[in-house]
Amino acid sequence: MKRFKILNIWVDELNMKQALERVNEFIRIGKGVHTVFASNPEKNFSVPENQFLFSMFKQADMLIPDGIGMVLAARWLYGSNLERVPGCELMQNTCAMAADKGYKIFIYGAKEEVNEAAVETLKKRHPTIEIVGRQNGYLPEDEMPDLIDRINQSGAEILFLALGSPKQELWIATYRDQLKTVRVCQGIGGTLDVLAG
Ligand code: UDP
Repeated sequence: MKRFKILNIWVDELNMKQALERVNEFIRIGKGVHTVFASNPEKNFSVPENQFLFSMFKQADMLIPDGIGMVLAARWLYGSNLERVPGCELMQNTCAMAADKGYKIFIYGAKEEVNEAAVETLKKRHPTIEIVGRQNGYLPEDEMPDLIDRINQSGAEILFLALGSPKQELWIATYRDQLKTVRVCQGIGGTLDVLAG
């Protein structure tokens, strides 16, 4: 898989099918936390400003072509036939795959009522989905150790972070080493707001 550099950040050359296959592979590897972030032009400005975030982004396991700007730039600069892989669609497709394969999901982020409604939507859509835990995105910092415990106890293999950017990327950079069962962590921005309707 190619990773293109566009201005100050990167984007991976993969389509939706390949992105989903990689998510599945990350889970099947059975160890380590794999990070999946959305690559879009706005991040060209916010990511390089913060060294921590920059190295996190550089080392991400998957940088999906979420924004049309990245797709067009990859086409012009590298002659790639890259297509968009919107983060909110990858999240929903991952949920369908998880329901089918029995992977456990933890959803952290968004306002309480949004988080709750989004979980309900997913459960209605996929009756076999295992959402083993959820938490709204407004938890005080001193309660993070409890949240980490809950995520670990839940046995979740997939963690969706809906804290917005760069909060979600910084969260995973800070806590990834404490996560014991999570194999894929995707930053999903405002996706829960969309699912909540
Ligand atoms: N959010 C959160 N905690 C915070 C700040 C934001 O859970 O401390 C949530 C917010 O409720 C919303 C999402 O993060 O659901 C941000 O969505 P946005 O569309 O702004 O993110 P982007 O996709 O632009 O990164």
